[in-house]
Amino acid sequence: DTTATIIDGKAFAATVREQVAQHVARLKADHGITPGLAVVLVGEDPASQVYVRSKGTQTTEVGMNSYEHKLPADTSEAELLALIERLNRDLSVHGILVQLPLPAHLDSDLVINAIDPDKDVDGFHISNVGLLGTGQKSMVPCTPLGCLMMLREHHGSLSGLNAVVVGRSNIVGKPMAQLLLGDSCTVTIAHSRSRDIEALCRNADILIAAVGRPEMIDASWIKPGATVIDVGINRIPHPDQPGKSKLVGDVAYDSAASVAGAITPVPGGVGPMTIACLLANTLTACSRAHGLPEPD
Ligand code: NDP
Repeated sequence: DTTATIIDGKAFAATVREQVAQHVARLKADHGITPGLAVVLVGEDPASQVYVRSKGTQTTEVGMNSYEHKLPADTSEAELLALIERLNRDLSVHGILVQLPLPAHLDSDLVINAIDPDKDVDGFHISNVGLLGTGQKSMVPCTPLGCLMMLREHHGSLSGLNAVVVGRSNIVGKPMAQLLLGDSCTVTIAHSRSRDIEALCRNADILIAAVGRPEMIDASWIKPGATVIDVGINRIPHPDQPGKSKLVGDVAYDSAASVAGAITPVPGGVGPMTIACLLANTLTACSRAHGLPEPD
């Protein structure tokens, strides 16, 4: 039986998008400015194609301009860097996102660090990483930002809570830990080499799963009443329908929900919040570029 509060990321994301849309409408009406987001996709990774399409649709739905640049898988580094340079100079482009992963012959660190940090709406540029780590104004990575917004909405203050982040990637785990530290949590980062990871997790008031292993975390890892945020998106064979697949998180949802105080579902939790935060970051980048007050 489910006792946990379900944190409805889908509904929350719709609210965020609505606020962004209203702000975009005001920017247009009062200043004649339309925020623009350029998304660069290299190659034909099927999951990336789905994400890019969804980002493009949602960008135009909030009234922003969406510029999609689809490049062949054998694009050279020089060609990709030349495109980024062009987008950096383009005044109608306020946000630039290079969809990861890039094909293996391209150096993603080099490519990401070629983006103008002020347009780096993914927050992966080395200077945004440094700004976040030192508590300065930056572009904050979308997935951890979405998680933080849901946590603040649910808890109010996070001060003094024990937070355990499982996963230490540059995209999710590390920036998530920085954000939680910034909100005065006591933060532990667990990973594949952590000892007695279950016991670490059982100490968490806030447990963030960003691992990429289907349903790894079950009720036995969770402190009763804890808030569980499931970042994982894993496609597994459907248990009841042969030949079909289904999406699950890194958390065994039914089991975890019997112990947790609150939990995000997959799908419908972190995923929709990530794209909503991308739109919010693009709006922020546009406001900063024009010296206008930032939306909160
Ligand atoms: P990475 O593969 O880059 O990182 C996974 C992390 O999990 C690593 O730090 C790894 O540890 C750790 N890990 C792996 N196995 C274990 C284990 N058995 N026990 C403990 N830790 C382990 O993944 P990402 O951070 O990019 O993504 C994580 C998940 O989140 C994926 O399912 C991804 O699809 C999803 N995702 C969802 C998004 C959304 O919008 N909802 C956005 C981005 C990602 P180590 O470093 O030691 O190898």
